Amino acid sequence: CADMALYKVKGNGRKNFSFYEAKMNDEVNRKVAINLRLHAAIKENSLEMYYQPLINLKTQKIIGAEALMRWTDSELGFVPPDEFIAIAEKNNLIEQLGSFALNTAVHQAAKWQKITPMQIAVNFSSVQFRNCKQLLNDIENVLNTSALPPERLDVEVTESLIINQEGELFDMLQTLRSMGVELSIDDFGTGYSALSYLQKFAFTKLKIDRGFIMNLSENEADQSLVMAIVAMAKALNLKVVGEGIETKSQMKFLNKIDCEIGQGYLFSKPLPADQFEELLKDPDAIQKLING
Ligand code: C2E
Ligand code: MG
Ligand code: MG
Ligand code: MG
Repeated sequence: CADMALYKVKGNGRKNFSFYEAKMNDEVNRKVAINLRLHAAIKENSLEMYYQPLINLKTQKIIGAEALMRWTDSELGFVPPDEFIAIAEKNNLIEQLGSFALNTAVHQAAKWQKITPMQIAVNFSSVQFRNCKQLLNDIENVLNTSALPPERLDVEVTESLIINQEGELFDMLQTLRSMGVELSIDDFGTGYSALSYLQKFAFTKLKIDRGFIMNLSENEADQSLVMAIVAMAKALNLKVVGEGIETKSQMKFLNKIDCEIGQGYLFSKPLPADQFEELLKDPDAIQKLING
């Protein structure tokens, strides 16, 4: 409530001060501050990529990583990506953040190929697809300069991309596929678009949202849903990933219903590059993490 008191003092004696108003103001101020500091972060290189392992649930080996952006600002402290990505999307900063994520993650993954073959998944905002040509160029460029085989790059998008589709999108996704790049639909089950898009667009992988995995052990309805999603993915020839696995019992359920790939805190949180590299070098890393 310190902020509220401050606001009251600064409020120029307005009589209709309300808590709601103060809260609104705090939210606006924070957005403005994040936008300002994000500009600085780009200049000062204070953005970082972390890597969370993707696991083959049968073999318990690392088959890849999802690259996730991290930002700790000198004034604001840690800001969660959900928060700053949304602000970047509204303030024309997402292109720069997106190209930082793509370039950092792909060059990093190209180096890791020498340890073991692995895939790198990079998240893309729907906003980045407004300029399909530019995005395609960026992806072609980074694959060329890094020499990462295209099939080792996995482009993660959410259903919102399909919902707000514009003309070029279909061609753009087809072009990526013809290059060999993989295409994942992220947070599957949380969007509101017709399922037919899974057929129409050239997706190769579907990531079941953490919300369905969370209560898997207790909730029979969620079990049925997840089983149905996995069956559908297989029928459509899509790979399927269970996101947000936190317990052994969730892992066992997914394994039992032949969901091949998993990701979650049970195995590892997203890690800085050097720590992820340590996991990659140890063939038994995941077994140790699950049982240790
Ligand atoms: P996402 O792409 O769905 O990423 C998965 C999120 O789930 C990550 O959150 C990850 O840390 C979290 N997670 C993974 N396993 C578990 C688990 O077992 N339990 C729990 N509670 N959480 C788990 P994070 O890193 O905070 O990222 C949030 C979202 O921000 C991402 O969701 C993605 O939409 C966005 N994001 C992150 N980095 C980037 C980026 O480089 N570019 C874009 N466009 N978006 C990004
Ligand atoms: Mg993702
Ligand atoms: Mg997700
Ligand atoms: Mg998400």
